[in-house]
Amino acid sequence: MPDDFDAIVVGAGMAGCSAAIRLAQGGANVLLLERGSEAGVKNLSGGILWGHDLDRILPRWWHEMPVERHIVRKRFGFLSADSSVSFDVDDAAWRSEPYVAHSVLRARTDAWLAKKAEEAGATVVTGVPVERLLWEGTRVHGVVQSGEPMTAPVTIIADGANSRLTLGTPIRPEPRLRSEATELGIKEVYRLDPARIQERFGLGPGEGHAEEWVAGHLPPGVMGGGFLYTNTDTISVGLILHIGSLFGKGAYSQELVEQFRLHPTIAARLRDAELVEYGAKLISSGWASRPAAFHGDGWMVAGDAAGFVFSNGIVIQGMNYAVRTGLEAAETALAAKKAGASNAAVLSEYTRRLETTGVLSDFRDFESMDRVKWNPRFYTVYPRFAVELFHGLMTETGAPKRHLRQVLRSAQRAAGVRTTSLLRDGVDLVRDL
Ligand SMILES: Cc1cc2nc3c(=O)[nH]c(=O)nc-3n(C[C@H](O)[C@H](O)[C@H](O)COP(=O)(O)OP(=O)(O)OC[C@H]3O[C@@H](n4cnc5c(N)ncnc54)[C@H](O)[C@@H]3O)c2cc1C
Repeated sequence: MPDDFDAIVVGAGMAGCSAAIRLAQGGANVLLLERGSEAGVKNLSGGILWGHDLDRILPRWWHEMPVERHIVRKRFGFLSADSSVSFDVDDAAWRSEPYVAHSVLRARTDAWLAKKAEEAGATVVTGVPVERLLWEGTRVHGVVQSGEPMTAPVTIIADGANSRLTLGTPIRPEPRLRSEATELGIKEVYRLDPARIQERFGLGPGEGHAEEWVAGHLPPGVMGGGFLYTNTDTISVGLILHIGSLFGKGAYSQELVEQFRLHPTIAARLRDAELVEYGAKLISSGWASRPAAFHGDGWMVAGDAAGFVFSNGIVIQGMNYAVRTGLEAAETALAAKKAGASNAAVLSEYTRRLETTGVLSDFRDFESMDRVKWNPRFYTVYPRFAVELFHGLMTETGAPKRHLRQVLRSAQRAAGVRTTSLLRDGVDLVRDL
């Protein structure tokens, strides 16, 4: 019996929609299935999209896609109990097209992408939580929904971070995510008049500002970073937390995000803004969260479902990898259609593409990043040290001036950081990040 479709894509996030658009553009009969009532309603993202790869399927997409603001400035900093120190990247080139990055709200972007998939010829069905993959021995021959099989020679699994379709199967034999490779993302959205956003952050119309913070003021032992992104008429704020560091601390996610939001530096940015949305989601990031394989007989796994989220405490990037890996899976499926075969040998082209496009090397090369990223000192003593150091360098007190060496020592003393730790962590930082 002929298959129902040339390809089935599960999950209408960035990965699944990109794959479906490319497949439809390439002439494949593709089915895109999404469990949410609409694409995007189940998706949560802090929201900076580095969308270069979208150019491959949707040239000048930012003119039509409902993006929020194009980013003209990125800030990175440390928060201590009630102070902060930060650094800006402010590049004039970011103010003109093609913009480097945009703030986005996924309910809008993903719905738009799903519509583009439909316009390209894909069959898009929402409100369908796929139950499981249709396994025939070691081969995946489609999916099962409400007990009914739907078949295709190729299934692209793009069901996101807590990929229920792959957990406990040969693709990901462990039954649940590993806590050491899992983070918790919490996000709140605050409404504020666009003119006030622009005035507050020194932006022109359409321009956006993004900041990421090492949150050094959370309860002892809790490791996490905060973000704040400006949208058109809202501001997204949130935390990315190391799951393991939450255990046994009596720390609740809502209290932690409140602590971040009430820090004087952040509170000033949110003045008079009104909470309109709250969400939390797991993030499985880095090489340690990869599946047993990225392809096999009849299947490929893309985006978060494959662990392709790069998060080093300074940046979190997953949407760009979702788009790229979705597209590479689609190219491979199109080549398989042409070849008339979709066994593991043919679909190994996908893993080869992940290699040649730099996706795998990004994750493999930065495997050691966790040692730096989840070093407890980065969330306790170093934020205090950075704040004390720059406070000492930049404040006039009327007292005699001190040498840099003395300022450094006094910051070390105030933060309780030993010279040996500073040197050791400095070496780790340069080597591993
Ligand atoms: C708080 C937070 C902040 C973040 N900030 C950023 C950022 O600033 N920049 C960035 O690039 N990345 C960021 N990320 C990461 C980014 O959101 C993800 O990497 C990206 O969304 C991955 O896209 P995806 O398509 O692989 O998965 P998802 O976007 O999760 O999409 C998966 C889709 O599959 C659907 N689905 C799941 N199971 C089924 C099923 N059984 N049947 C049918 N459909 C199913 C889901 O409903 C969903 O629509 C952030 C993540 C979080 C949690």
